[in-house]
Amino acid sequence: MAELTPPRLKNDCFALPPGVDWTPVDDALARLRERLHPVVGIERGTPVLGGILAEDAVALRSNPPAANSAVDGYAFAHSETGQGDQRLPLASGRAAAGAPFEGVVPEGHAIRILTGALMPKGVDTVILEEDVSTDGAQIAFEGPVKRGANSRSAGEDVAAGDVAVAAGTRLGPAELAFLAATGVAEVALYTRLRVGVLSTGDELATPGDTHDPSRTYDANRPMLLALLTDWGIDAVDLGHVNDDRAALAERLNDASGDVDAILTSGGASAGDEDHVSALLGERGARADWRIALKPGRPLALGVWDGAPVFGLPGNPVAALVCTLVFGRPALGMLRGEGWHRPEAYSVPAAFEKRKKPGRREYLRARLNADGHVEVFGSEGSGRISGLAWTDGLVELPDGELTVRPGDAVRYIPYASFR
Ligand code: AMP
Ligand code: MG
Repeated sequence: MAELTPPRLKNDCFALPPGVDWTPVDDALARLRERLHPVVGIERGTPVLGGILAEDAVALRSNPPAANSAVDGYAFAHSETGQGDQRLPLASGRAAAGAPFEGVVPEGHAIRILTGALMPKGVDTVILEEDVSTDGAQIAFEGPVKRGANSRSAGEDVAAGDVAVAAGTRLGPAELAFLAATGVAEVALYTRLRVGVLSTGDELATPGDTHDPSRTYDANRPMLLALLTDWGIDAVDLGHVNDDRAALAERLNDASGDVDAILTSGGASAGDEDHVSALLGERGARADWRIALKPGRPLALGVWDGAPVFGLPGNPVAALVCTLVFGRPALGMLRGEGWHRPEAYSVPAAFEKRKKPGRREYLRARLNADGHVEVFGSEGSGRISGLAWTDGLVELPDGELTVRPGDAVRYIPYASFR
């Protein structure tokens, strides 16, 4: 169980070239992809759901390991058959899954065979029992039958020594089945990524603690912790700090030794109370990414004692969009999964919209009963109800665009970010 310590991120890993103002979304993503690398260790162990392969898993045995029957029926040598009515005497004995027929089937004979049984010596073709009449001593059927019919050849699925599941794959039920079927009981897995979530802002309160209307209940922390958990990341609650630079620095100091990355929300712009941004700046490790996207433009990226910090906007809608669009692929890189591209679908719009050029827009959306995509009535980013109403995002390209009902738009379900 030797655990490797990967290199930490360099302070300047998020730096943008000087003079860059509004960074297009694709440029920002390309930069993350280029700069980030796995920061988790590697250990050998049993394949587990959600585990990420650090090395290719190679099939230890072919599937199937030897030729076998795909159906219940009768096996014979194809060369003994032809066109028209066929009659073959039955050899005694049978071949069943796990109980092979040990001998050689005599020439010109057929033998009873069940699904999954190894093909006995002397036969190469199987006929389905429904296509045969038999009196127990012989079988009769209609020819011709295709050579090799209903028989699976050794290794036709995967051969021993082939890569069964590639490095970087996050193991799901299907991969676990594939590894088991090819005899792989031990794999190299990345250790789970640990990510801390911190809320900032003097105005924040715990839900229910106060009715003071000047206070805002902290919605980002439960949202971000749940997102991370949903993505198979160990989410660490770093609590809340006020807009106080010393307190924030202390919390980041404590956290950076314990987690691999930190998501903060609030205080990411360049205002008086934007202490996350200011603090990352003081440490000389900040890059303000003014990304040409709506909602959620200010994104302060930095590195605190080797731990990447994603300074998300405070607004919950913007925080969610930024986390999905930038946080998700970035965390994928950090945990060894490689670049995660959410599955998107081209779906007819059930809405109308004119959009100005110069920035990408994400609309909160859901599919209606006709399979068309509707958007939430208000684009106001304060409308948290819209997050719960929707199942995904419509992504509108950077350029100018007019969407009319029925036009195809790009729809990304929230589930695609998992
Ligand atoms: P900021 O980015 O700190 O300027 O915050 C922008 C808006 O988001 C303000 O209205 C904040 O009160 C609000 N906000 C910041 N953090 C949270 C949070 N954790 N939950 C809900 N709203 C927040
Ligand atoms: Mg704030």
